Amino acid sequence: MTQLGTLYVISAPSGAGKTSLVKALLAQDTQVRVSVSHTTRPIRPGETDGKDYNFVTMETFDAKIQKGQFLEYANVFTNKYGTSRIWVEEQLSQGMDVILEIDWQGAQQVRQQMPDCVSLFILPPSITELRKRLIGRGTDSEETINHRMSEALNEIRHYREYQYLLVNDNFDTALQELQSVFTARRLELRRQQQKHAAMLTGLLSE
Ligand code: 5GP
Repeated sequence: MTQLGTLYVISAPSGAGKTSLVKALLAQDTQVRVSVSHTTRPIRPGETDGKDYNFVTMETFDAKIQKGQFLEYANVFTNKYGTSRIWVEEQLSQGMDVILEIDWQGAQQVRQQMPDCVSLFILPPSITELRKRLIGRGTDSEETINHRMSEALNEIRHYREYQYLLVNDNFDTALQELQSVFTARRLELRRQQQKHAAMLTGLLSE
């Protein structure tokens, strides 16, 4: 029997480095895939439809809600974001691990539906550093940055709801810590028993 994959839920305020960390993790780990969310927000320069997000209209998004096609969805800022239920279920049933990069509202919904998921929250080292990173991105107006700062604080208020807390001060350290969570999960007794069933039987038949 194929072992079901693990669902990882990762949240962070904008600018904490969540997307870069996940990208670096994916580059080194072939057993994990990241879900491409649907969103109604406009595409940003440098983004690709279908790769960064599936960019859809409000009508398309609402139709998907009606059809129950989202595992979770939420309003973030003035836009809607949602995760495709069928894609996630397919990946997990094939034994792939799946990462959802979603906000605290979505994380709450996923935890309710899939209590076996692993949830992580990534913090920036300080508010000063967070502001610097949001400005450093260079794609948003000052008004947007201020708005994002208050949204960031709102997101941070929910860090206690997660199983793991990472502080992204040094990127390489944070990446190692992220990998450690994945490694620990894969080494859990029940998973190892299934993966090494034949070897364990052989060992104990001596
Ligand atoms: P951005 O528009 O900057 O890419 O993302 C804004 C926020 O939306 C981030 O906090 C991100 O985690 C969240 N987000 C992205 N995709 C989803 C999703 O599918 N569901 C939920 N609930 N939040 C999402």
